[in-house]
Amino acid sequence: MGIAEIGHFIDGQVRGSLATPARTQPVYNPAIGRERAKVALGSAADVDAAVASAQAAFRAWADTPPIRRARVLFKFLELLNQHKDDLARIITAEHGKVFTDAQGEVSRGIDIVEFACGIPQLLKGDFTDQVSTGIDNWTLRQPLGVVAGITPFNFPVMVPMWMYPLAIAAGNTFVLKPSPIDPSASLMMADLLKRAGLPDGVFNVVQGDKEAVDALLVHPDVKAVSFVGSTPIANYIYETGARHGKRVQALGGAKNHMVVMPDADLEQAVDALIGSAYGSAGERCMAISVAVLVGDVADRVMPALAQRTRELKVLDGANLAAEMGPIVTRAAHERISGYIGLGVTEGAQLVVDGRGFLGASAGQGCEEGFWLGGTLFDHVRPEMRIYREEIFGPVLACVRVPDLASAVQLVNEHEFGNGVSCFTRDGNVAREFSRRIQVGMVGINVPIPVPMAWQGFGGWKRSLFGDMHAYGEEGVRFYTKQKSIMQRWPESTPKGAEFVMPTAK
Ligand code: NAD
Repeated sequence: MGIAEIGHFIDGQVRGSLATPARTQPVYNPAIGRERAKVALGSAADVDAAVASAQAAFRAWADTPPIRRARVLFKFLELLNQHKDDLARIITAEHGKVFTDAQGEVSRGIDIVEFACGIPQLLKGDFTDQVSTGIDNWTLRQPLGVVAGITPFNFPVMVPMWMYPLAIAAGNTFVLKPSPIDPSASLMMADLLKRAGLPDGVFNVVQGDKEAVDALLVHPDVKAVSFVGSTPIANYIYETGARHGKRVQALGGAKNHMVVMPDADLEQAVDALIGSAYGSAGERCMAISVAVLVGDVADRVMPALAQRTRELKVLDGANLAAEMGPIVTRAAHERISGYIGLGVTEGAQLVVDGRGFLGASAGQGCEEGFWLGGTLFDHVRPEMRIYREEIFGPVLACVRVPDLASAVQLVNEHEFGNGVSCFTRDGNVAREFSRRIQVGMVGINVPIPVPMAWQGFGGWKRSLFGDMHAYGEEGVRFYTKQKSIMQRWPESTPKGAEFVMPTAK
């Protein structure tokens, strides 16, 4: 039997690529290190077909009353809840994250669909009666047209759901370009949307890599691009999209710090560090990758941190006892292992080395998978590359600082500003920290402060390019443009032309 090919979803149908010879890329199950399918890599012709379908569907969809668009999303929500575990299983099979974490990912995506179901309320405009005698003025928000979403491997369901539920609820049509590393979930979501009654062309998927992305970035009918991924690509998407006249929001990489103050509940802090550094093998944009240990905290927590890191249950993600699964690809495994070696060369103290972890201990058949254990460094200094760069793996770097002011300065001087957290029992420290810190999302005694669907998600500095955060009301604003209408119904007696600037009369 040949290996299955994962295609595009264009105009309501799953299709292969138009170009010959068609390009493909293998899709692995990272737990066993074996190819499970191939994914089509779309060309400009596939992007043209998807955008044409989306453009053709746009007028009728934009004219569909918001409450009827919301009804399609309500039906989609019902189907998502029925198929939650199917989606989670697909995520685990291609990404590797543990099944319960994959269920959590789907749930956080569902939150956004629930928020998008409120679109009639979210689109309500402002109205001023009698701005001048006999004249009213109001604003309304209209959809942009065809919008595109380009998404990373690490949340193949949740991150696309940061985008398309709100975009289509607002009356746009959508082209998703998912990560080729774990592409299957995109087709399952497309199928559920179709079954929910979404008209063909409103949601399309073009699988692929840079070639498809570049075609979207220059396409004249694509009005806006939402991107989530690494910082160099986010920067490129922002610049290229803007140069081609598009509205762009591009969320980038991260190096999230957790500051632990000497008065913190250290047991809670250790739990928080272990879960947020090693959950999803550290492949989360909100993972904690730096522990900033203030005063004498390092000496008090290091033994527990080391022990807990060694005792992590690193198992096949399908095993319900697993706390951490494999690394997503062989290339990522090599990159992360390289950083661990670099940390040693740079002079950090390697307390726990995950490189010796054997796949055989993760479960039957896992010998050839992409496995690493949790890794812990102490005495990491700010000039080291393992501190400055995003490793995006299960590696926790501990930096020792004398006081809160040095902790805040350290965080503020980092090029990334996605998430941060502070563990303390002192309300004033918490308040000052939240006010002074140059980071978009802040947790106080909360390790991963991922905002809820109606709050909006976004970092600062080189973690986000563009003005608006993802989802929440900022998301509604991103996917719509404001129109202001001023209206007068004059009495039939003509008053003659007016040549001065109109003022309220
Ligand atoms: P990535 O930047 O490699 O890929 C993201 C998307 O861009 C994919 O669809 C990919 O196919 C495409 N792409 C890759 N190279 C490209 C190129 N040269 N030109 C055009 N398109 C290209 O990111 P990834 O490895 O899939 O995901 C991990 C990264 O995403 C991490 O840096 C992580 O911090 C970041 N991330 C950020 C957030 C956030 O909210 N800020 C959320 C999730 C992930």
